[in-house]
Amino acid sequence: MIPDPARFDFDPLLDFTTDVLTAGGCRETDARIVARHLVDANMVGHDSHGVGMLPAYLAHIKKGLVELDAELEWLNRMPALLQADARGGWGAPAAYTALDEAAARASELGLSCCTLANAHHLGRIGAYAEHLSAKGLASLHFVNVYDHAPLVAPFRGSDARFGTNPICIGFPETAKNPPFLLDMATSIIALGKVRVAANKGITVPPGTLLNDQGMPTTDPSGMAGFEIRGALTPFARHKGYGLAYASEILAGVLSRSGTIQPQHERRGGIQNSMFSIILSPAAFAETDWIDQEIAALGEYVTQSPPMDWDSPVLIPGAPERAWRGKREREGIPLDEKTVDQLNTLAEGLGIPDRLKGE
Ligand code: NAD
Repeated sequence: MIPDPARFDFDPLLDFTTDVLTAGGCRETDARIVARHLVDANMVGHDSHGVGMLPAYLAHIKKGLVELDAELEWLNRMPALLQADARGGWGAPAAYTALDEAAARASELGLSCCTLANAHHLGRIGAYAEHLSAKGLASLHFVNVYDHAPLVAPFRGSDARFGTNPICIGFPETAKNPPFLLDMATSIIALGKVRVAANKGITVPPGTLLNDQGMPTTDPSGMAGFEIRGALTPFARHKGYGLAYASEILAGVLSRSGTIQPQHERRGGIQNSMFSIILSPAAFAETDWIDQEIAALGEYVTQSPPMDWDSPVLIPGAPERAWRGKREREGIPLDEKTVDQLNTLAEGLGIPDRLKGE
């Protein structure tokens, strides 16, 4: 039996996470932004990209795999084309800075494109699309992952050659509909989900993992933490593989940070580069038309009779909203092993407060 997890409210978990990052040497403004990004990932059900990342982040600080004093550098600031380099600094602060500027351009011009190179882990990409949606903007994001050994096998391959290269598409709320959010790894399951399964001592679904012999397995232990023995598989066979490949080209090549190919040094950290297109829907069509068409489409699709009456058809983004509501009411559950890992970190950094939960 898996024991009931302890539960935490957003604000105390945010304060704890900020304190750990600050005590680890992170600038206070960065710590707050990175911490909020992590806790918010837990809030919407993506525990794989939540506070459970802290031990890895602290290990990166210790090994110099994240630049604590980095300042975002603009490589290109043409009206509709922005290119930024995070210079190895924290992902979320760099991404919000770059995307805010791109958002201002998209609002003015109808669309803009932004690349971000050499950012430490960008975490849950959907948070950036949500941020832009809140400004009334649609966005597409292609992300590649590097600076560590690859994790995902190419279709027909038996060992890892890609990161979990996420892709995300967001569309803002309309008169009757909440924002659309498609935010997904190009592996069937994200690495963090394998880590969560390993921490809980449970198996992963068949078809999602290969062992170090290239054979299918459901045992996540070889992929726990960052000691990678084996490979994740791409979703939808050649199609997910093709999207992972596209992310390497769009994010890795066009941002100028480089792809996963092995001529680039792999130091054992996590770096992301991101290619984003930001669109102002109002520049493309009348708002009334968009409102009416989005509402009719949503109604049409979700009225498909569900194969299982307990699992109705959902619009992408609905699961995250449902998790947010549930966790606002019930708190964020963290398994015992994660809480222990976080408290051990805090102890090592001389932070007096510990996570206790309810
Ligand atoms: P997931 O499979 O949980 O969800 C993928 C998408 O499907 C979401 O948009 C969700 O709203 C939608 N969805 C889920 N169930 C649905 C249903 N029944 N009907 C309709 N839509 C549904 O996500 P994932 O692939 O496990 O990715 C998890 C997170 O990991 C993402 O936030 C991603 O950005 C992040 N990630 C980050 C990196 C990185 O390097 N920074 C790498 C990989 C993944």
